[in-house]
Amino acid sequence: MALKPCKVCGTLNAEGVDTCLSCGHDPEGSKRPAIFRYIAIAIVVCLAIPLISGLFNWILWQLKPKTPKPNPSKVSLVLNEIPDPLKKI
Ligand SMILES: [Zn+2]
Repeated sequence: MALKPCKVCGTLNAEGVDTCLSCGHDPEGSKRPAIFRYIAIAIVVCLAIPLISGLFNWILWQLKPKTPKPNPSKVSLVLNEIPDPLKKI
């Protein structure tokens, strides 16, 4: 009894078997068209790009230095220096 490689997965099977012992497909069957692989890769990429982009933005947001809060006393000093236009000299 000769062994024949499965055309789907390449596993050696006994000649005349209906299903491959490794993958379960017909050993004489043809491989799935390559378009399915490209579609699967496209779906994975479409899901991964927003995830990576969000992670990148989150990291940048974490690295951004926090803006210092204005000092209230300094602000009031600056406001006091603004001349009041209604006030008569
Ligand atoms: Zn197989």
